[in-house]
Amino acid sequence: MIVAKTFKWEAAHRIPWHKEKCKHLHGHSYKMVVEFEGEPDEKGFVIDFNDIKSMVEPFIKQIDHTTIISNSDIELKEIFDQKAWRYFLLPYDSSAENLCLFFLNIILEKNRENLRNNRITAIGIKVFETETAYAYIKQSV
Ligand SMILES: [Zn+2]
Repeated sequence: MIVAKTFKWEAAHRIPWHKEKCKHLHGHSYKMVVEFEGEPDEKGFVIDFNDIKSMVEPFIKQIDHTTIISNSDIELKEIFDQKAWRYFLLPYDSSAENLCLFFLNIILEKNRENLRNNRITAIGIKVFETETAYAYIKQSV
């Protein structure tokens, strides 16, 4: 069975090498669905929704109302550093695919042992850039 919780944040970003409008700084109301797969325990729980919240929400607070800047976007990073504007540095371009990977990695990095101990077998991450466009990754824990 799969249990999931949705998180939302607002952020600006750009894809510097993009040939069309995505190269310009613009914003999204991001939505992320985090799924946990496993068999329900004797109480009927796969995972407590509160546990999902405490695992994911600290990262949402860090990224919300920031500009997501790719580590390689030196030009934009320099401007934000000069102005002391808030940004969220990503080790790669801020595509929906890469945000999926980023969240998957940071959630697993901190919680893999605990999730395994609680019989979670897989985690799925869906990142929506818009209402109609998302990337999805599912991986064994
Ligand atoms: Zn975009």
